[in-house]
Amino acid sequence: MKFIMASNNRGKLREFKEQFNIEFIPYRELLVDLEIDESGDSFKENALIKAREVYSRVDEEYIVISDDSGLTVPILDGEPSIYSARYAGDGATDRDNLEKLIGKLRDRGLERAEAYYTASIAIVGKFGEFTAHGWCYGEVIDSPRGENGFGYDPIFIPYGYSRTFGELEADIKRGISHRRRALDNIEPIIKMLTSKM
Ligand code: IMP
Repeated sequence: MKFIMASNNRGKLREFKEQFNIEFIPYRELLVDLEIDESGDSFKENALIKAREVYSRVDEEYIVISDDSGLTVPILDGEPSIYSARYAGDGATDRDNLEKLIGKLRDRGLERAEAYYTASIAIVGKFGEFTAHGWCYGEVIDSPRGENGFGYDPIFIPYGYSRTFGELEADIKRGISHRRRALDNIEPIIKMLTSKM
């Protein structure tokens, strides 16, 4: 039994590998041309769509794991949420998305606003489906600071800190991030599955 990751993001692959000490095969190694349409209306649904899509095309001995994540700003009616990666349109860069969000804050005269990241993880295999979730709460600010991380990190300050994820060391982010918390929550399932292998 082997694990496939329904993502080609190297950073995510590394985080998953570090947490569980097992190898995850990026799905593109097996399914070169597969494009997955994230058409769900929640992080959980999109994570399940990705994992199911890959699982439907591989041998049933594989276990597929996926994640979907994004940033929610309640005062902006919950934007960008599941549209975090394409907030400024299809093909938008991280910078385009971040600038759009800053523009929305400034339009409302806000220098900062409460915000939270969500990560949903799905596992699909012959035994059925599991999901787990994690959150990281904090604030977004109206000007970017720092070069670390990716996406909205230069404007996200986690609660308990005064620096943005763009300024904080990678280890600190890794210890408190939404993905880390979701990985902690899915860990018992992974342990159960690997003990059966
Ligand atoms: P996906 O889960 O790969 O679809 O990514 C969703 C999008 O959410 C990313 O492109 C980022 O814009 C945003 N995002 C998710 N997690 C993070 C994070 O840890 N830092 C910054 N942005 C994030």
